[in-house]
Amino acid sequence: MAKTWSNWSGSLKFTPGKLMEPQNEDDLLSNVRLALENKKKIRVLGAGHSSSPLVVTKDVLLSLKHFTDVGNVNKEDSTAWIGTGLTVKEGGSKLLEHDLSFHNTGDVDIQCVSGAISTGTHGTGIKLKNLSSMLTGCRMICADGNVREFTEEKDGKDFFDALRVSMGSFGIMTSMKLRLLPAFKLERKEWCTHADNCMEHLDELIEQNRNFDFYWYPRNDLVKLRILNEPGRGSQELDYARLDEEKTGWAIDVLPKERDLKFDEMEYALPLHAGPECFMMIRNKMKAKFRQNVAWRVLYRTIQADDFYLSPCHGRDTVTISLHQNVGLPFMEFFREIEPVFRDFDGRPHWGKKHTLQSGEISSLYPRWNDFLELRKEMDPEEVFLNDHLKQQIFNI
Ligand SMILES: Cc1cc2nc3c(=O)[nH]c(=O)nc-3n(C[C@H](O)[C@H](O)[C@H](O)COP(=O)(O)OP(=O)(O)OC[C@H]3O[C@@H](n4cnc5c(N)ncnc54)[C@H](O)[C@@H]3O)c2cc1C
Repeated sequence: MAKTWSNWSGSLKFTPGKLMEPQNEDDLLSNVRLALENKKKIRVLGAGHSSSPLVVTKDVLLSLKHFTDVGNVNKEDSTAWIGTGLTVKEGGSKLLEHDLSFHNTGDVDIQCVSGAISTGTHGTGIKLKNLSSMLTGCRMICADGNVREFTEEKDGKDFFDALRVSMGSFGIMTSMKLRLLPAFKLERKEWCTHADNCMEHLDELIEQNRNFDFYWYPRNDLVKLRILNEPGRGSQELDYARLDEEKTGWAIDVLPKERDLKFDEMEYALPLHAGPECFMMIRNKMKAKFRQNVAWRVLYRTIQADDFYLSPCHGRDTVTISLHQNVGLPFMEFFREIEPVFRDFDGRPHWGKKHTLQSGEISSLYPRWNDFLELRKEMDPEEVFLNDHLKQQIFNI
C-alpha cells in the first residue's frame, strides 16, 4: 500500500493502491501491462498541483518525474520534444539552452508542462492561446499497453484538438512535441491603483500590452496591474497608477512569480465581453459579505480563443476570473456563493481547480463535447484511464 498522497494545497488527500515512479519507458511499460492484466485503473500525475480530484485513485497513481529529456530540437521551426516529467521551470531552462521558449506561462512555473497542457492551463494575454496550444505531437502509452507516437501532421487537427485538453483520459504521454518561440526577453512592470481606474482603462490595458492582468484586493479596493512587454513596448507610463516593481529578463524567468503562501482556488472562463460586468458583480458581493474573511485577491486575465474541444477558451476570446482563499481557512462557502455569478455569464470552470458543476451542466458549455467523448472511447474503451471524478462528475459515462 502506498503512502497518503496530497496535492499542493493539501485540500485533497487519498491513498492510492500503488504509486509508480518508473525510471524509463521499459520500466513504465512493464508496470502498465501488469496493471492492465490485474484490471487496475491508472491515473497519471503531473506535479500534483490541481485541486480538483483529477488524479484521485485507489488503484495505480503514476509519476513520470524521471522523464526529463529534451531532444529533437529544431530551431528552424522552433519545435522540440520534451519529457513529460519536466516542470515548466525545468523545461523552460532546458529550452533556453537551445534559444527556445514557451510563448507564455501561468502565474507560476511549478506545474509539469504535461499537467499544464492537459487541463488548459493559461497565462494572460489576449493575443496568446493557453499552454495546451503548444502540443503538436506526443509519445503515448495507450490503453492496450502499447506505445504509439502521434503528431498533428499525421493524426490530424481534430485528434489534437481533442487530445490537447484531455486530463489524462487518452493515455500516458511520456514525451511531447511542442510548438515554441525563439527565446525572447520581457519587461515586467507592476503598478498599484484604485479598482475604478483599472476598470476605466481596462480595454486599452488589454489591447496595448502583450501580457496584462490585474489582482484586486477586496479589503482596500486597490488593484495591482501587471504588464509585460518586449522591452520598451506597450504601456510605459500610467498617470493614474504608482510603479511598484520592474524587472527585465528572459521570458521564462520574468513571466512566472514565486508563491510562498498556499491557497485554494476557483476559476471560471467567461466570454471576453462579459468580464467587466461579472467582475463588478463579484466585487460588490465580496465587499458586502466576504471582505472580512477573505484577504486573498481576485485575479483577472485574458486569453485568446482556440478550437480545442474541452478548452475553457473554446470558440471565444476569454476572460478568466479566479478567487483565492488561504490554505487552512474555509473556502467552500465563499466559492459556492460566487459560483452562480460565473454561471450566469456562461462560465466554464478550470479543470484543475475547485468547482461544483456536474456533467449535464458542463457538457452544454462545450459544442464539441460529444465528439470528445467519442474519441475518448476509441482511445480507451475499457476506461483504464478514468477515475470516479472524470467518469461521474465530468463525463457522466
Ligand atoms: C500555485 C498554483 C498556481 C497556478 N496557476 C495557474 C495559472 O496561472 N493558470 C492556470 O490556468 N492554472 C494555474 N494553476 C492550475 C494548474 O496549472 C493546473 O491544475 C495544472 O493542471 C497542474 O499541473 P500539474 O503538473 O500539477 O498536473 P496534475 O495536477 O498532477 O495533473 C493535471 C492533469 O494532467 C494530467 N497529466 C499530467 N501528466 C500527464 C501525462 N504525462 N500524460 C497524460 N496526462 C497527464 C493528469 O492526469 C491530470 O488529469 C495553478 C495551480 C497552483 C497550485
